[in-house]
Amino acid sequence: FTRDDGQTGAFDPDAPYLDASRPVAERVDDLLGRMTLDEKLGQMTQAERKEVGAGEITSYALGSLLSGGGSVPSDNTPQGWADMYDAFQAEAMATRLRIPMIYGVDAVHGHNNVKGATIFPHNIGLGATRDPELVRRIGETVAIEVTATGLDWDFAPCLCVARDIRWGRTYESFGEDPELASAMTTIVTGLQGEKLGGPNSVLATAKHYVGDGGTNGGKDQGDAQLSEEELRKVHLPPFQAAVKAGVGSVMISFSSFNGVKLHGHRQLITDVLKGELGFTGFVVSDWNAIDQIDGVRDVFTPEEVSAAVNAGIDMVMVPERWREFISVLRDEVNAGRVPLDRIDDANRRILAKKFELGMFEHPMADRSQFDKVGAPAHRELARQAVRQSQVLLKNDGGVLPLKKDSRIFVAGRNADDIGNQSGGWTLTWQGQSGPITDGTTILQGIRDAVGTSGKVTFSADGTGVPADTDVAVAVIGETPYAEYEGDRPDGVTLTQADLDTLAELRKSGKPVVVVLVSGRPVDVTAQLPQWRALLAAWLPGTEGAGVADVLFGSHKPTGKLPMSWPATPDQEPVNHGDPKTPLFPYGFGLTY
Ligand code: BGC
Repeated sequence: FTRDDGQTGAFDPDAPYLDASRPVAERVDDLLGRMTLDEKLGQMTQAERKEVGAGEITSYALGSLLSGGGSVPSDNTPQGWADMYDAFQAEAMATRLRIPMIYGVDAVHGHNNVKGATIFPHNIGLGATRDPELVRRIGETVAIEVTATGLDWDFAPCLCVARDIRWGRTYESFGEDPELASAMTTIVTGLQGEKLGGPNSVLATAKHYVGDGGTNGGKDQGDAQLSEEELRKVHLPPFQAAVKAGVGSVMISFSSFNGVKLHGHRQLITDVLKGELGFTGFVVSDWNAIDQIDGVRDVFTPEEVSAAVNAGIDMVMVPERWREFISVLRDEVNAGRVPLDRIDDANRRILAKKFELGMFEHPMADRSQFDKVGAPAHRELARQAVRQSQVLLKNDGGVLPLKKDSRIFVAGRNADDIGNQSGGWTLTWQGQSGPITDGTTILQGIRDAVGTSGKVTFSADGTGVPADTDVAVAVIGETPYAEYEGDRPDGVTLTQADLDTLAELRKSGKPVVVVLVSGRPVDVTAQLPQWRALLAAWLPGTEGAGVADVLFGSHKPTGKLPMSWPATPDQEPVNHGDPKTPLFPYGFGLTY
């Protein structure tokens, strides 16, 4: 590997860019003036941590690494992460100009790749709380857990406005309403702090720009066939709010707008986001997404590389093929197809954030906060968020709140499963059933609430209801998925396993309370008449006790639907303001 423009001056410890007392703009100018083309290309490149060989961060002057979903160090503890981070960062600090690399993860509902971290409700549940200040505090808490492991950058919040529940990423959205999603950009302030660079400040990412929740049929990575007016009215506002809140980075959507892939959409990225909205941070691509600009998902072509960078993408997430990306981009620059100005602009934007974060002064992990990951105060905040996110949809004859001295039969495969109640993006990309991390299951929450006053019996499949049972609680719904794996083009319906469990309970003749653990509304129109109560619990995360708090009435239900609940699976898309009549309207929610 050789530099092609001969600037190989040695490190200068007195260089102005290293002087923290100077304004960031001055430091950026000074540093940029010292960089070779290859060093600039390195800053624009983000590789997956598993795809980087020993010494390559130094030799390629790589600017960024990421952990894809579930790409965890072999020692998946806060210290294991900090050790991994520091080893990579030491390589970056061995480069000629000692520019730190920035490390990003998807901490989308807590620091969710890390075993033992606090897992908050997914955004759909936070949307139900209608509580922007709570969401700001969650951002602040996630930032504490992320910085405790040394990392700098969070690919959150997802500000998609989910308009069709068949989309597999619906739960990553705060709901169907642009104003609601905009109000929740308080999470940006929580994550970054009032300004970047505080002790627990992480760079936030508004994603996925723009219209990812508006694709036809709710298809992930699909095409949003909308007028520009509709795009601006429904999908743009949360990004506008995030820019106002000072968000440091924006990730581009895999999807297309009227047939044009966003990753090559210069008007929307450069003119609208950076121009009109005045976004001064940097734009990052999604995972290998530049591959798709020409409509073929194979390899990226030189045309795709220049189209992406010329459209205004500043850093490209090229997990595995980052070496090839660097060499193709170098050729495109040398051939004059990507202007050097564009390369400089991208570098200015990236370097400014590294300076603002204080990374040049403190490149290494702060090792004093390992015990903050999964800390009791954080779990308490998560439990509060769970309580506030519950939406009571039906409560006939006041069957809820449950009485602590009653005999309760609990059924359903989501009753005693931390993995199922956490959903996708938990320890692994797709999420997983089972005891995947620490926490309290909904069943455990119910048992703790009842204590010795009453009796709790459990059977996952609903068989063996004891004769003396007062009430049956069925905890059913979805099991984990992420992204396109969760697309349900034919509608979101109950599974046969859940229907079988419900049939068992019906045979018993006992009153049935359903707790639905799901990332979105599920079609329950046919079954609802047989249930006395229905509570939408969304994907609560590790603190299942919050669900029990609502079931037993120590917290009265306050959540409001963040989405319209379709009357039939084929009613989608249904959103408030439509002429359609859903089963439960946007904003619906009962209380005791
Ligand atoms: C997702 C992004 C995520 C990225 C990095 C992609 O597949 O679309 O939301 O930030 O992976 O893990």
